[in-house]
This record gives sequence, C-alpha cells and structure tokens, in this order.
Amino acid sequence: MFDDSFLGRPDTLWHPFTPMPPVGPREVLARAEGAFVYTESGHKLFDATSSWWCQSLGHCHPRLVKAFTDQAKVMDQVMVAPHTHRPAIELGDKLLGALGEPFRRLFYSDDGSTAVEAALKMSLQFQKNVGQPKRRRFMALERGYHGDTLGAVAVSHVGEFHDLLPFESHVFRARVPSRADDEAACLSEVENFLKNEGDTVAALIAEPLVLGAAGMHVYSLSYLEKLVRLVRNAGALVIFDEVFTGFGRTGPLFALETMPRDLRPDMVCLSKGLTSGFLPFAVTAVTKTVYDAFTGGPAKAFFHGHTFTANPMACRVALEVLRIFEEEKIVEKNRVLIEQMAAQKARFLALPNVAEVRHLGMVWAVELKDAATGQPPVPANGPGWRIASACWNKGLWLRPLHQNLYLTPPYCATPEDLSRAFDVLLSAVQKES
Ligand code: PLP
Repeated sequence: MFDDSFLGRPDTLWHPFTPMPPVGPREVLARAEGAFVYTESGHKLFDATSSWWCQSLGHCHPRLVKAFTDQAKVMDQVMVAPHTHRPAIELGDKLLGALGEPFRRLFYSDDGSTAVEAALKMSLQFQKNVGQPKRRRFMALERGYHGDTLGAVAVSHVGEFHDLLPFESHVFRARVPSRADDEAACLSEVENFLKNEGDTVAALIAEPLVLGAAGMHVYSLSYLEKLVRLVRNAGALVIFDEVFTGFGRTGPLFALETMPRDLRPDMVCLSKGLTSGFLPFAVTAVTKTVYDAFTGGPAKAFFHGHTFTANPMACRVALEVLRIFEEEKIVEKNRVLIEQMAAQKARFLALPNVAEVRHLGMVWAVELKDAATGQPPVPANGPGWRIASACWNKGLWLRPLHQNLYLTPPYCATPEDLSRAFDVLLSAVQKES
C-alpha cells in the first residue's frame, strides 16, 4: 500500500515545497528551545530562518507556553459571529495601539495567505460598497509573494507558483528598482498605467521594503513612498503585506512605521510573528474608512470568515508576544544583532562565487553566482542546497531561495550564536566556490 518508507515505517507526510519522494538526508525533529532545534539523534541546530521566518522570539518561549496553557484550561475554540471574548478584546486594544493610526478594526484569520485573501476580497467589496464597481483589478509588485491560495497566487509573481492559475489575473505588476537610477523609469511605467487604467484598480498589494520569497530583495523606501502616492492619487486602496516584515523583521515593529503618516496603507496583513510562530494565526487590520464602507445593513456586510477566527489561545499568545516586545524592548535590543549582521557584508563579498549581499534589519541574504562565468548558477538552487547541507552537518539550519542563502534569525539569538552561524556559512560558501 505504501511505496515510500522512512526509518522503517510508512512515510505519510507530503512535504511542502518539496519534490516527492524527498531526496537527501532527513531527520526527525524532536525538540526546540530558543534559537535551537534538536533532532531525535541529538543533533543541535541553529534555526537560522526562524522556521520560515516566524519564530521571532524563539521556540517554546516560556511566557507563550504559559499563555497558551492558561487559556486552554479556560476556553478553547468558540464561534465569534457575533459574540466576542476577552482574549480578542484585549489583543484588539493592544494590537491597534501598536499599529497606531489609522488602523481601527481587525479581521482575524489563520495564516498569511488567508490574511491576504481577506484583504483582497475586502478591497473588491469596498469599491463596490462605495459605488466604484468598475474597480476590480489589482496592482502588485513584480517578484512579490503573498501566499499559496489561489487569490494570493494571482497577485504574487514568483515563477513556479503561478502556472496552475485557472483564471487570468489581470494584475498590473509594478517593476521594483534594484538601483536608484532605475526608480524614475519604474515609476513612470506605473504612472502611465494609472493614467490609462487607474480607474479599474481596486488596490495595490505590496510587501514593504523587502521582497521575501523572491530571494530577500531589499528595495528603497523612496520608491515605496512614491508608488503609494501615485496609487492613492488614482483612488485605489493600498494593502501592505507585512506577513513577513511585521514584528521587528525589518527593524521597527512594523515596516509601515517608516512611511509618512499620510502614506500609511489602508490595510495591513500580519501573521508569522503575530504569535511568534507559536500558533497559526493572522489578522487583516483596516482603517475606519475601509471599515465604515461595510456598515449599514446586510447588503454591505463582508461575507467572509474562517472557522478558527479569533481562536482564544492564539489571541492570548499574540497578546503575550506584544507584551514581551514592549517589556523586553525587543526592537531596541535587536540593534546589536542588526549591526553585527551589517558587518558581515565585506567578507562574503570578497568570495568569487558571491554576487551580492543584501541586508535590512533582521534579514540578511547572500546571492551566489557561478565563479567562472559570473552568471547565476544552473540550476539556481544547486549550490545553495549543497551549502545548506554542509551547514546542516555543522549545526546550522538554512534553506536556499533560488540562488540565495539567507538568515532571518530568531531575536533571542546571542551575538555568539550569530557569529558562529556566519562563520559556518562563510566556510561552506568558500568551499563551494
Ligand atoms: N505573505 C508573505 C509576504 C509571505 O512571506 C508569506 C509566507 O511566507 C505569506 C504571505 C503566506 O503566508 P502563509 O504561508 O502563512 O500562508
């Protein structure tokens, strides 16, 4: 019945983003604590990607374990249509306080993709509710990524994910400048599109400041500000997808804080760091203007929801995450690690197989090239997987993204942990060159 086995037992797990059956070494993960994960065979690994960018405060944080178990003893999943509960009320106050103006309402869901789906659907219905039903298109960033459900895939633009779309997405993709001297050309393309078809656009969705899944491509605040201004002037909404960038990943608590007040988005999607990766949970936060368009009777209501909306344990854990950020001054503390990451650039750039090093806040990436030709390696992730495998053997857990290797470390990492991780990575990249 089973044509695949692992450790002498039928293998039942269909792994995400993995050609099946998997090839190469695999181990059973047994335990996780702080910045480290331990396998059943006793191998200790530094979780350099914070397990897909979510374990920001570290694994099994004692305060989150307590918040979760305390709540689990009192009340588990309950329906919140139209009732509410204390964990949702308290999280709402705290999260809106942290986001600041202009956010006023929170729509909870389960993960990054569902937070994005909610935002996209909200913006379509917003336009209909305010008498702009022609606005049914989206603008998005070239190389953007917003999740794997079909709506999110439609606005995303990372190659291999898109081929299966069963519909035309009609998305205008704004080119993101990788050099300052390309900014004006990118903006002029946007301007031209908006001049001709701006009245068909419901919203722009953008990962602010860093295109994560594209390979940790950092882009300028100046471009983002000008892009948002153009979109606003054309009467469309602005959605920031902070699923990755939220909760300190780019430096400040939210990337949107770097924007002038009048250019902050109408909606923001959060997940991953919302519970510090402890539980699947997400939120789409919106302004009063957006929310008001959905009030005033059943015809205006947002008919969208998920079974586990506002799960009480997830709310309590997210509340505790915000308290930890505040009480332990996590954003300020991260500055030491951020400086340490910035200082790594030169020694990687000195290697013949390194094309570029990118860094923003708690995101750091090295882009590889073929040392002989100077071109991207073929296949793109070939050297990346060999390097990741060498690092794994030395206690450093990474995953390549195309021709890039990156670190998005947990904030509880010590300078010594980080220093060792960079040494191990440097030596593996050097051996591959
Ligand atoms: N949006 C961004 C910016 C992401 O980086 C991701 C996941 O990496 C998602 C959305 C999708 O989140 P999830 O995998 O939780 O559905």
